[in-house]
Amino acid sequence: MLANSLIELDRAHLIHPVSSYRGHEALGVRVLKSAKGATVTEASGRQLVDGFAGLWCVNAGYGHDSIVEAAARQMRELPYATAYFNLGSEPAIRLASELAERAPGNLNHVYFTLGGSDAVDSTIRFIRYYWNARGEPKRDQFISMEQGYHGSSVVGAGLTALPAFHAGFGIPFEWQHKIPSPYPYRNPVGEDGNAIIAASLAALKAKIEEIGPERVAAFYAEPIQGSGGVIVPPKGWIKAIRELCREYGILFIADEVITGFGRTGPLFACTDEDIVPDFMTTAKGLTSGYVPMGAVFMADHVYDVIADGAGNSAVGHGYTYSAHPVSAAVALEVLRLYEDGLLENGIKAGARLMAGLEGLSDHPLVGEVRGRGMLAAIELVVDKQKKTPLPASAMPARRVFDRAWDNGLIIRAFANGVLGYAPPLCCTDSDIDAIIERTRRTLDQTL
Ligand code: PLP
Repeated sequence: MLANSLIELDRAHLIHPVSSYRGHEALGVRVLKSAKGATVTEASGRQLVDGFAGLWCVNAGYGHDSIVEAAARQMRELPYATAYFNLGSEPAIRLASELAERAPGNLNHVYFTLGGSDAVDSTIRFIRYYWNARGEPKRDQFISMEQGYHGSSVVGAGLTALPAFHAGFGIPFEWQHKIPSPYPYRNPVGEDGNAIIAASLAALKAKIEEIGPERVAAFYAEPIQGSGGVIVPPKGWIKAIRELCREYGILFIADEVITGFGRTGPLFACTDEDIVPDFMTTAKGLTSGYVPMGAVFMADHVYDVIADGAGNSAVGHGYTYSAHPVSAAVALEVLRLYEDGLLENGIKAGARLMAGLEGLSDHPLVGEVRGRGMLAAIELVVDKQKKTPLPASAMPARRVFDRAWDNGLIIRAFANGVLGYAPPLCCTDSDIDAIIERTRRTLDQTL
């Protein structure tokens, strides 16, 4: 059992991210103690299957000694080295080079951050710098999507479109614009892929024309919208959007913080869609959550403009922990694991996950099953024909989450009645089968 004193200390002192502070004080905290593979163990000793890889990040699964060894080795040898002022460390340089080699197209330059939010923030700064260097300072308007998530920083949260990240914080700013999500299940134009692509292109065009094409700096999209409810656009959608941005001369940013590093099958979802963005943001699976790190990939043509614009002056953007050698050493080992069978296992396990979830389609509450690779969702409804969402009052997300937890399964229950899945890529057949069986039990108890 968890010592009462720990619960009290938590209540009194730890502020939990994206949690109701008063709700948390009433409910208390659930504490994990250890983990191996896809199984996590509570302080009580009870085991659960982690169907969400922590927070869509522990792609390699828990308890890899080789990752721990890589971190320990680096900590013993050189625990810290700044990358400021043309200084560096070997793991960071090697990691940048290995990543550039695997990135789509000409994304040959890598800027390391501590996670996804500051990766997105960094792109905003670089994009402003880029347009200033090109002599177009008026290009200061940014567009992103409804249901999108691009982190929680003071500026990035304005590109995010989830209401909880805006309410009370005074954002989005007036330079942050949105267009509707492609959301096939609930798109006003229906579920036909071509119609959805046409509608998104029309919406983006209209937004650009409304702002003024000469004012628009960039457009941000996730290849699959994660925190908005695992929304999978039709095949060809991102390619069409990318082309439209090119036609207008607007920078296109693919936010692969969730989809990167095998989550949808290949190392990057952009590769699968055969597109090359101007920037690609990543984090999470980069280090598999063992230590914090994010990476911004920058295309040659963007890098050159920024570099030439700065000349011999410093480009004043950096963090003390940018290109941290321990994080880089971990990421190098995680990358080795991806290519030593992990990506392959993820593709196999992803097919089993999708088939298993499809098998739940007969359940009266299941309106839609969707996903790609090891990223999936079930959208719950009360009326399948009419796609009537569950009333929030009938099924607070927290209750479904708690029920699943009590059934030995960790999933994400979004407020809009969507259950999200992002298990570690190392899942065995029996891990996946447990996820499916425990989901059915949870749904039955929710009826
Ligand atoms: N971008 C996307 C697409 C994300 O899903 C997230 C986090 O979930 C972020 C950015 C922010 O990353 P972080 O939480 O590491 O700051």
